[in-house]
Amino acid sequence: MSVLRRMMRVSNRSLLAFIFFFSLSSSCLYFIYVAPGIANTYLFMVQARGIMLRENVKTIGHMIRLYTNKNTTLNGTDYPEGNNSSDYLVQTTTYLPENFTYSPYLPCPEKLPYMRGFLNVNVSEVSFDEIHQLFSKDLDIEPGGHWRPKDCKPRWKVAVLIPFRNRHEHLPIFFLHLIPMLQKQRLEFAFYVIEQTGTQPFNRAMLFNVGFKEAMKDSVWDCVIFHDVDHLPENDRNYYGCGEMPRHFAAKLDKYMYILPYKEFFGGVSGLTVEQFRRINGFPNAFWGWGGEDDDLWNRVHYAGYNVTRPEGDLGKYKSIPHHHRGEVQFLGRLHFRRGNIHTPANCRIEGIVSKPVKQFFISKRRFPRVKS
Ligand code: BGC
Repeated sequence: MSVLRRMMRVSNRSLLAFIFFFSLSSSCLYFIYVAPGIANTYLFMVQARGIMLRENVKTIGHMIRLYTNKNTTLNGTDYPEGNNSSDYLVQTTTYLPENFTYSPYLPCPEKLPYMRGFLNVNVSEVSFDEIHQLFSKDLDIEPGGHWRPKDCKPRWKVAVLIPFRNRHEHLPIFFLHLIPMLQKQRLEFAFYVIEQTGTQPFNRAMLFNVGFKEAMKDSVWDCVIFHDVDHLPENDRNYYGCGEMPRHFAAKLDKYMYILPYKEFFGGVSGLTVEQFRRINGFPNAFWGWGGEDDDLWNRVHYAGYNVTRPEGDLGKYKSIPHHHRGEVQFLGRLHFRRGNIHTPANCRIEGIVSKPVKQFFISKRRFPRVKS
């Protein structure tokens, strides 16, 4: 240290001042850019705990009232007050029997016998080699993870888009989990991992737009799923096909105590038909950094006159692979954009996106359309 100081001819005091200002500015940057993202997650967690507690108290109160009131009985049509009754209805929905016979000429049904419901989600690390060995035994899986059922006609051709940076250990866990589930659902599918290079803040939304364009060049897909790499479905009856309305699949996340954090929440995993995605003009391009782009997608969907559907009851449960927002900064402008400025389709065109080989995706800030405020 002293050698360094002598070489640079700096006094003790200037060195200390430098260290002081350096640590001060880095902590400021941390508190401005990183901490709010983490705080946001914890805030929702605490809120969810509060809601659960209130619900439990209500349910207990309701039970006590039911048992103490001689005029009522607890029968099949009584749901604990305030609970989502669909949680109960879901259990009774019928799925096809084991001996169901498929026909290669008929569309695959949506409620298949293999879809048994609750999945045991294992988030322990697994290597790419192991995954490769495992799935190379299945000769029907083509390059790119492209698979189609042979015993019936797939109802949906699904492109699963995964925005990616610096999560190499998550990807094999994701495939290990998703491939068997989509095969059980008899969907035709392939995966597109869109990796952002460079050091700019992560742009999840633009990666999805790029992925969409690339996927469309590759094949004729009719349903696109926008999937975070660290979200794993806990129920194989959460059917990954699209519908008349855009769908939010990840309705109940373990990190939010399986409670929807807010009505407009559209994050984690969502799905739109190609036609719907074109009509809403894709994701916004202007969200650099963590957060807000999913809220804007919600705005775009509603602006185009759609509603969002969600899986019923426990079908929409997801486990998230633990990680620490690895250096991802939050997008400071998101609250401003959320006030409704951004969803004007003219601002962000999927047609305008520079489409390069997916691996080398990088678009400088200057080249994306400016957003009017
Ligand atoms: C962000 C969203 C995020 C949600 C849940 C919101 O404040 O804007 O992007 O999905 O929090 O974490």
